[in-house]
Amino acid sequence: MPELPEVETLRRALAQELEGRTLNALKIYEPRLLQNASEQTLQRALVGRRLRAVKRRAKFLLFDFGENTVILHLRMTGWLTLSPIENPRFVFEFTGNKTLYFHDTRRLATLHLVPSAHAHELPPLAALGIEPFQPSYTFKNFRALLQTDQEIKRLLLDQRKIAGIGNIYACEALFASKIHPRRPAMSLSRSEARRLFAQIEKVLAQAIAKQGTSVRTYRGLTGEPGGFQNFLKVYDRAGEPCVRCRTPIVRIEQGGRGTYFCPQCQS
Ligand SMILES: [Zn+2]
Repeated sequence: MPELPEVETLRRALAQELEGRTLNALKIYEPRLLQNASEQTLQRALVGRRLRAVKRRAKFLLFDFGENTVILHLRMTGWLTLSPIENPRFVFEFTGNKTLYFHDTRRLATLHLVPSAHAHELPPLAALGIEPFQPSYTFKNFRALLQTDQEIKRLLLDQRKIAGIGNIYACEALFASKIHPRRPAMSLSRSEARRLFAQIEKVLAQAIAKQGTSVRTYRGLTGEPGGFQNFLKVYDRAGEPCVRCRTPIVRIEQGGRGTYFCPQCQS
């Protein structure tokens, strides 16, 4: 699933290609995508409008058309491209011969239409927690979230607490911080919490710099893979030696998700 770095990489490419262009037409081919507006409502609200900005909140892409904003969550397999594809789930035609196609094999993606002025107070954004690189991401706020006996790895995936982190970067940030993924969040010392707080942003920033991670399906706007999969230290490396201590990396299940960690240097 695309996480913050992959969605940010897409956002930057989309902004460069589409910002300032007017939407000439839109067609929805997958009605299950639509959460709160019909195709007709979308057409009435958006066709003829200029795309002011492409923004991001956590793993959500926001297409700001002035009065209204389209909020897209790619979920497992959603992917955007400017090249024609078979079976698109939606097509947005912009001025300047730019057409945006949405591909989604698993059909789990979601699309909301919201008034731009209240985008952050309404579903699906309203319930999101603090976000790395945003003013809300302070050590004080982070530390307050840790006052629970929930396992730290599972807490990092809870979008209502910290938004934007998924399985890959939760595993990598815990490895970088030398913290065992099963530790109850409240058991972290102040210095461990400090380390994790900093490593989350460090790992995400490194991944953004490499245009994200492509381990399964993620591709950039023009089909190119990200580059951070070559720098993963634990994720998807079960049985391979730890880069720090050579102990084989272990995979366990937490809340139905695979967790990768080094049993020697994460405690
Ligand atoms: Zn190790």
